[in-house]
Amino acid sequence: MKDLAATPSVDMLIVGAGFAGLYMLYKARSLGLNALVIEGAPSVGGTWYHNRYPGARVDIQSMEYSFSFDEALQQEWHWSERYAPQPELLRYANHVADRFALRDGIRLSTRMAGAHFDEAAQRWTVRAEGGQRWSALFLVMASGPLSSPNLPDFAGLKDFAGPVHHTADWPHEPVDFSGQRVAVVGTGSSAVQAIPIIARQARELTVFQRTAAYAAPAHNAPLDPEFEARIKADYAGFRARNRRMHGGFGSLLPPNPVSALAASAEEREAAFEQRWKIGGFAILGAFNDLLLNEQSNALVAEFVRGKIRSTVKDPRTAQLLSPTHTIGCKRLCVDSGYYDTFNRPNVQLVDISRAPIERFTARGVRTGGREFEFDALVLATGFDAMTGTMLRLDLRGRSGLTIQQKWHAGPLNYLGLTIAGFPNLFNIAGPGSTSAFTNVIVAIEQHVDWIADCIGHLHAKGLSTIEATEPAEAAWAEHVNAAARRTVFLSCNSWYLGANIPGKPRMFMPLAGGFPQYAERCAQVARNGYEGFVLA
Ligand SMILES: Cc1cc2nc3c(=O)[nH]c(=O)nc-3n(C[C@H](O)[C@H](O)[C@H](O)COP(=O)(O)OP(=O)(O)OC[C@H]3O[C@@H](n4cnc5c(N)ncnc54)[C@H](O)[C@@H]3O)c2cc1C
Repeated sequence: MKDLAATPSVDMLIVGAGFAGLYMLYKARSLGLNALVIEGAPSVGGTWYHNRYPGARVDIQSMEYSFSFDEALQQEWHWSERYAPQPELLRYANHVADRFALRDGIRLSTRMAGAHFDEAAQRWTVRAEGGQRWSALFLVMASGPLSSPNLPDFAGLKDFAGPVHHTADWPHEPVDFSGQRVAVVGTGSSAVQAIPIIARQARELTVFQRTAAYAAPAHNAPLDPEFEARIKADYAGFRARNRRMHGGFGSLLPPNPVSALAASAEEREAAFEQRWKIGGFAILGAFNDLLLNEQSNALVAEFVRGKIRSTVKDPRTAQLLSPTHTIGCKRLCVDSGYYDTFNRPNVQLVDISRAPIERFTARGVRTGGREFEFDALVLATGFDAMTGTMLRLDLRGRSGLTIQQKWHAGPLNYLGLTIAGFPNLFNIAGPGSTSAFTNVIVAIEQHVDWIADCIGHLHAKGLSTIEATEPAEAAWAEHVNAAARRTVFLSCNSWYLGANIPGKPRMFMPLAGGFPQYAERCAQVARNGYEGFVLA
């Protein structure tokens, strides 16, 4: 990283133009900062630009999964459906970029390769893959919790003669599976959304399943105009009530404040049934300990398995589709006809839990001693979540400490926002924060507001750097671990734990302690003069 004098200088460099990067730019400008966003993709929108597979849609209701920072924005935007589809979410991101005149601060098709902290200058030198450089006082990683697709190292994948599409890197021109034999590998959230639609188009669909998924019905529908008007009549109040919820959403249907174990079998059945009819994540709030107590969890898990058995006609397929792990331990999927799809004569389910994929061939795949042939392959194999994107970068803090060295045993940070040894670097919606358990837009707004307040504080005090201390970071890691131990989340192999990526250190990455408690803790740290940080 040489030629510093010739390097353009900005106050803040923001990596990523998803919702986090857009709001960070808006907020930085409101502080009077000269800020620049660099985005690897040729468009804003982040997740909703990349994930354009059939059926991609949000699974938190759109009246909630949207920005709250501007009253006029939330009043004027109209969502067409209860759960907006991907194209509409992408339009929304573009609308935000236009409405707040953000585009001139965003360099598209510009991928950050690395950033080094220059201790003499107390600034970050940021380098793009194309060779461009910037010097920045603040570096904000808005690079996404789920932005590095996971492409397993399948033997022979390159030999497969047909098209291969990863759900998170879907082609921009329409993909037509009509008349084709299609294979889907993976049964997580993206697969659960895509499979019903692909099955309607394809001649044959073969789904390769390693772990069965729990899915609750979305009951998606056009947005009810009366509901929309009711929310918009007091949108600010609605947002505030949601921010007081554990996951930053769902205030219209708070969790039942009773243990599942305290209810009779009939009461439990009625509560589960009522919430199943409402759809989405509502079922996990039928009692207050479903994600805390394995016995309670087993009751709701069995309820969902009952739904699978009553939906899927072939008992063997129903059995295979029935998960055995704790429900909610892996992110609950929200579906539109997923289980019912397996009643179609053109759909078959192949269990690869005991006999994994041996290799791909020119015509298909070999597993369990059998050969399956297909014309097109869909990989719904998820993401190297939470840390994958940062760990691919040449990111170096003080004394040349690399992010790979720093995070060799898992993502250490303080408040999920800052990293000791990496001054003036902020991470939005990453590990160590509640982001993955939250309506992520609520998490993003809280992070961006905190960062902006922090920079405002530095300015007010005539200071220019902030850095987490190692003791604060160690205590935070223990806080994150302790929160996970109070839940059922450690009872299965999930991406929250890094378990979907071979060789990735097992560390529970998101904070399970609840959004309001987390936001309050961040606010308290600020009120106490940024305890746990060194300011200079
Ligand atoms: C299919 C799918 C469905 C989801 N559904 C929900 C949901 O229902 N509810 C919910 O709360 N959350 C959901 N999420 C999580 C979602 O990621 C967040 O809600 C939110 O979109 C994250 O926004 P972001 O700006 O933090 O990150 P992203 O939207 O991921 O944006 C990050 C951007 O950074 C860019 N980038 C990364 N690395 C670099 C680099 N080196 N240089 C330059 N640019 C870079 C990427 O190209 C990307 O555009 C979903 C995620 C996926 C993948």
